[in-house]
Amino acid sequence: MSRALDATDVLVVGAGVAGLACARDLLAAGVSVRVVEAGDAVGGRMRSDRIGGYVVDRGFQVFNTAYPQVRRRFDLKELRLRPFTPGFLVHTPTGRLNFSDPTRRPRTLPELLSGRLAGPRDLAALGLLSARDMLLPPGRLKRRPDTTARTAFADAGISEAFVERFFRPFVSGVFLEDELETSARVFHLVWRSMLRGTICLPTEGIGVVPRALAAGLPEGAVRLETPAAGLTDDGVLTTGGQEIPARAVVVATGPGAVPVLLPEVSLPDYRIVTTYYHVAPRSPLGEPTLLVDTRRRFLNTCVLSDVVPSYAPPGRTLVATSVLGRDGQGRERELRAALGEAYGTGTDDWDLLTVRTIEDALPAMPPPQPLTRTTRVAPGRYVCGDHRATASVQGALASGARAAREVLRDLRR
Ligand SMILES: Cc1cc2nc3c(=O)[nH]c(=O)nc-3n(C[C@H](O)[C@H](O)[C@H](O)COP(=O)(O)OP(=O)(O)OC[C@H]3O[C@@H](n4cnc5c(N)ncnc54)[C@H](O)[C@@H]3O)c2cc1C
Repeated sequence: MSRALDATDVLVVGAGVAGLACARDLLAAGVSVRVVEAGDAVGGRMRSDRIGGYVVDRGFQVFNTAYPQVRRRFDLKELRLRPFTPGFLVHTPTGRLNFSDPTRRPRTLPELLSGRLAGPRDLAALGLLSARDMLLPPGRLKRRPDTTARTAFADAGISEAFVERFFRPFVSGVFLEDELETSARVFHLVWRSMLRGTICLPTEGIGVVPRALAAGLPEGAVRLETPAAGLTDDGVLTTGGQEIPARAVVVATGPGAVPVLLPEVSLPDYRIVTTYYHVAPRSPLGEPTLLVDTRRRFLNTCVLSDVVPSYAPPGRTLVATSVLGRDGQGRERELRAALGEAYGTGTDDWDLLTVRTIEDALPAMPPPQPLTRTTRVAPGRYVCGDHRATASVQGALASGARAAREVLRDLRR
């Protein structure tokens, strides 16, 4: 560093993964940093609760080991991850189809080639698209002109029927929209990570991920239950009326507080999702696999306790099912009927444990997507989070990293 910095160089507002990653990078560069967080724990959208012996994430989500920021920042062993099978199941009106990645599970190749999932042309087009996404350097993917995921599938020679049976039900659960209007660039990068990595859940719940980041900060660096009410010329004003001075402020609050703290920053629309957590007397599946529905009555469902047995008390089964939008009257009843059909089992003896609706779950990512945006807003003011990059943990972490780089560059000038 060209010169020593004051005691409170940077104040990060928000202890989601973006804010925590930013704080960690600043700290590693020798800058003093504090974080204020409105909630009673770190994690933002990645938090887990315990309800009567069950682990309940605040909305079903998965953790992808191939994300570059994940590989850079985490000791995956420490997170004690449990994998999903590489692939997913598709419930169709004519029965269940199984898509398993043949490069990881060669013994599933005969089933893939049987024609039940797709004909030879679609399989060849899927293979080519996947090989390109997996093998081309990401820079090439990023430089391609952007379009919607739907157009990208058509351009890749994939038939509409196969898109409806395979990509649409699966992709809706990833981007929390079911019109395939998400940027193709974002789709290709996410598909690349799915093919190269493993989707997992930490044994103690998704909330372990931000806690691992926070554990690398000095004690007392994160102040919980301290919402920022506004930015001042010298730092941040908390809702308690205290002014915390800082040379630079990074707003990492997610969409809720950005309009108040930084009204000049425009935000994308956000997707709403609801996850229903059911307790069943036994597993209706018996394998750690995602199940999607061609009729899209739900985005995806899985038997969480088949993935991570400790998500449920011994001998009990926890099922998570996500739907687009909010809960509403009769929605759970209809969902239960759809789940009964998809799992091929009665659901009368299932109990609803809890429901989680996440209003600002994921930013919409229509084309063209720049993938990453500057975090500089004004001198000494920065913004980061998944809305400044891609809608994922990778995007949030990368945006936090970019904020740290930009703050450092400006402080050292
Ligand atoms: C249901 C669901 C499913 C998902 N599935 C996946 C998935 O499978 N894979 C994937 O990669 N990603 C997934 N995501 C996305 C991922 O969780 C987010 O992209 C990421 O957690 C966003 O982190 P962030 O730090 O940008 O924002 P946030 O997590 O929203 O963090 C913002 C923080 O700021 C705090 N804050 C707000 N206002 C203030 C204030 N005024 N003062 C102080 N603090 C404030 C909040 O309390 C919060 O802690 C999913 C998200 C949800 C909700």
